[in-house]
Amino acid sequence: MIKPKKSLGQNFLIDENILEKITNITNIENKIILEIGPGTGNLTSYILKKNPKKFFVIEKDNKLATNLVNKFKDQLTIINDDVLKIDENNLFKDKVKVFGNLPYNISTEILSKWIINLKDRFWFECLVLMFQKEVADRIIAEFNSSNYGRLSIISNWKLNIKKICDIKPDAFFPKPKIDSSLLYFYPKKNFVKIKDPNNLEQITRIFFNQRRKMLKKPFNQIFNGDKRILKKLKIDLNLRPQNLNLETYYKLVCEYENLRS
Ligand code: SAM
Repeated sequence: MIKPKKSLGQNFLIDENILEKITNITNIENKIILEIGPGTGNLTSYILKKNPKKFFVIEKDNKLATNLVNKFKDQLTIINDDVLKIDENNLFKDKVKVFGNLPYNISTEILSKWIINLKDRFWFECLVLMFQKEVADRIIAEFNSSNYGRLSIISNWKLNIKKICDIKPDAFFPKPKIDSSLLYFYPKKNFVKIKDPNNLEQITRIFFNQRRKMLKKPFNQIFNGDKRILKKLKIDLNLRPQNLNLETYYKLVCEYENLRS
């Protein structure tokens, strides 16, 4: 009997309808699949039924990883490691489809890492990921809303995002206290070219550090009151960080990089 570890966010998905639904979001047959945190292998079994060409899983928990070896034998390539330490850009030469009922405590860290670390090409074809509903709401939030912030700006930079559905705590064992949401991400063909994505992280951090304050202070801190940029991007400094749309943030980062090049 496996005792779920809270520290590793182990809430196993047990609702068969939802497991089936997840594997119908995108075609799996003959595709290369990566599952993050397969746990006891519930979603893994459903994915295997759809005949992937190759199936990688990354599981940090040693005991669960051993269990998966015994259960699935050579149907899986099991990477017994921390997903935050893996360099997917080098690991996957061919594009993979990623599935994950993510450990909630590090879900935003995983997503941000994948976006910020992307090299010249996408190593994934799509991402099908489960988040806490509250986090998913922040990822898909539109500007002018209270959920809009750094996570929305970073997530939407290179990815299109679609919400599939919300999922109640009953679908998991042990039951979490909160609702969850399933999101589907796929690469954008066109996106604003930012030279160093760390600048996107840094600039959004400065702007959203004091999200209730006017834009004046963070703008002046970064751009030293440069009126040319204000005019070019049509920014009113009396607004608040949540009032600037996605494109304006990406363009602001480009302006910042131009000033430094
Ligand atoms: N996919 C399974 C399911 O739906 O039943 C389990 C999902 S559970 C929410 C999260 C899984 O991620 C657990 O198996 C946990 O051990 C694993 N995990 C937690 N932190 C991890 C990390 N840093 N790297 C890889 N796996 C991790």
